[in-house]
Amino acid sequence: MQRWGWILTASLLLPLGAAAQQAADSAQAAAAQTPPPAVVQPVSATPGLAIVKPVARTPVSVDQVVDQIIEREHALITFLKNRTPLVETYLQNMTPDSKLGASPKEDHYFLGRLDMGDIVDRRDYLAKQMSFQQSLMGGVTKLFRIQYQPMGFSWMVFADRQSFDRSHYDFRYVHREFLGEVKCLVFEVTPKKGAGTGLFEGQIWVEDQDYNIVRLNGTYVPRPKNAFYFHMDSWRLNLVPGYWIPSYIYSEEGDFSYGSKDKAAFKAQSRIWGYDVMKSSRDDELTDLKVEEVKDESPVSQDLSPLEAQRQWQQQAEDNVVERLQKSGLLAPPGDVDKILQTVINNIQITNNIDLPRPVRARVMVTYPLETFSVGNTIVISRGLIDTLPDEASLAAILSHELAHIVLGHNLGSKFAFNDRMLFSDESTYQNFGFRHNPEEETAADAKAIELLKNSPYAQKLGSGGLYLKQLAARAPTLSALLTSHLGNSLTDSKGQVTRLSALMTSAPALDDAKLDQIAALPLGGRIKLDPWGDHVEMVKAAPVAITSIRDKMPFEVTPFFPRLARLGIAATDTTTAENSAAKESSTTTTK
Ligand SMILES: [Zn+2]
Repeated sequence: MQRWGWILTASLLLPLGAAAQQAADSAQAAAAQTPPPAVVQPVSATPGLAIVKPVARTPVSVDQVVDQIIEREHALITFLKNRTPLVETYLQNMTPDSKLGASPKEDHYFLGRLDMGDIVDRRDYLAKQMSFQQSLMGGVTKLFRIQYQPMGFSWMVFADRQSFDRSHYDFRYVHREFLGEVKCLVFEVTPKKGAGTGLFEGQIWVEDQDYNIVRLNGTYVPRPKNAFYFHMDSWRLNLVPGYWIPSYIYSEEGDFSYGSKDKAAFKAQSRIWGYDVMKSSRDDELTDLKVEEVKDESPVSQDLSPLEAQRQWQQQAEDNVVERLQKSGLLAPPGDVDKILQTVINNIQITNNIDLPRPVRARVMVTYPLETFSVGNTIVISRGLIDTLPDEASLAAILSHELAHIVLGHNLGSKFAFNDRMLFSDESTYQNFGFRHNPEEETAADAKAIELLKNSPYAQKLGSGGLYLKQLAARAPTLSALLTSHLGNSLTDSKGQVTRLSALMTSAPALDDAKLDQIAALPLGGRIKLDPWGDHVEMVKAAPVAITSIRDKMPFEVTPFFPRLARLGIAATDTTTAENSAAKESSTTTTK
C-alpha cells in the first residue's frame, strides 16, 4: 500500500502522450542545461516525482491550438489530482459609503485543504438554495473549520474539471496580449446551447508555447433560480516545468450604481499554496531519511545545570512547534523576510542592551488574520499583519510586544517538548496549538514594549504604530474575521476594542481619512509574496503609487490580483542587477 504514492506519481507522466515519452530520455540532459529558477524551487523536494516538460507541437490552425489547450487542461487536472494544497479565502461584504465609495460591512475567513482529486458535482450546489457566499465556500458554513472537502470554488481552479471539451464549449480566438512577460493568446469560451448548467463562460489566456491556460476570467452560466454564480478572475503561475499552477482567485459581486437592484456585494481573495506538501506517508519519510554525522560542538563536555536543562527543554519545544507549523503549511520556510524582521528586533535589542542566552528568531505565518505570537525565542507574525503595517516603525511596535514577552520570560508552549504532542493531523493544528497569554502577561508585555520602543531607533516614529491601531479600531467592528487570531492573542477584544499596545494610540495623531498623505494602514497583499509551490515568502518590491483620492486608501481591504506572469527559469536569467530584479518583482502578486 505504501508504494502507491510512487506508482501514482509515476503514472502522472502517461497522459502527456507519446511526445513526452520520447522526450523522457533526453529530459535529464535538457534539465542540466536549464538554468535554475530564481525564486521557486520546482518539485525536486518530492521524492519519486520527475517532471517531464511536455514537448510543444506547433499547431498551425486555431483548431489545433484549441485541441492543445484542452489537452493541457486535462493534463493539469491529472497532474494535480494527488495534491492537497491549502486554500484560504478572505471575503469582505461591502456596503455603499458616501465618502469611501464602498467599505467593508462584515467579513468571513475560510482556511481549508483542497483535495484536487475529488470531483465536485456541481448539481449538489445547484440543488441547495445558498447565498453566493455560501456557494463560494462550497457550502462550508462553519468558518475557521479546516477539513478535507471539495469546495465550491474548486471549480474556479479549472474552467471545467468535468467537461472541458469541444462538445460542451465553443472557442473563439480574440487576440494576442502580454500578461507580464508572457505572450498570450486570448480565447472567448462559451458553452454550447443545451450543453448543461453551471458551465464556464468568459475568457481564457493561454501562453503561446505549450498553450497552457494562465488566466481565467468569467462566470458560470446559466444562472439558476434562487442561487448565485459569482464572477472570478483566476490566475496561474509557472511553478513547475510545463505546468501553470492555480494560485490566486479574485471574486467580486455587487453594483452600487444609482438604481441598481443588486443589493449584496462582496469582494474576496482566495490563495492556494502548499502544493508541494504531499499527503505524508511513511514511505516518503523513509526516502527522506538521511542520517548525517552530528558533531557535538560545545566547547567542553559537561553536564547541564538545572537552568541550562530548562532552557534546552524550551528550545526543544520551540523547535518542535516551528517545524510542525511549517510542515502543516502555515509557516513559511526560513527566508529573507525573516531576516528583515530579525533586523528590526535586533535594533530594539541592541539599543536596550538586551542580552539573551539565545538569539531571537522571527518567522512568517502565511495566513491573512492579523496575529503574532511567540514560542521560546521565536516570534511569529502573520502575512496579513505585515501586509497592512505602513512602515518599519509600526512593524517594530508590533514586534516589540512579543520581544517583551521573551525578555520577561513569559514562555509558553514547553509542553510541546514532548514529541507525542506533535502527532496530529495538519487540519487540527489550531485545535492542538495555542500560545495565548493571560491578561496580566499581556499588560506587562505592553508596558515593557513601550519601554523598549522608547529606547529604540523608532522612538521618534511611534506615531505610525499608534495611527495604525487607530485605523484598526475604526475598522475592527466590521473585520472580526480578520482580527480573530488562531494561535496567539488577538489585537482587539471581542467588541473590537484595541487591546494591544493601546498606549501608543494616545500619543498618535488623529485619524483623518480626508488627509491623503496620512496612510494609517495598507490594503492586504501589498508586502508579502507567497510562492504557492514551496511556501517561500519574499517582500514585494512594488514602486509606491500615489494616492489620488480617499477611495485609494483601502485600509485592511482586499483588492484584485495582478501578478506579473513570467516563465519558470526565464525570470532567473536576467536578474543580474539588483535594479533589474527589483523592477521584475515590482508588480508580482501586488494588488493595487
Ligand atoms: Zn502578547
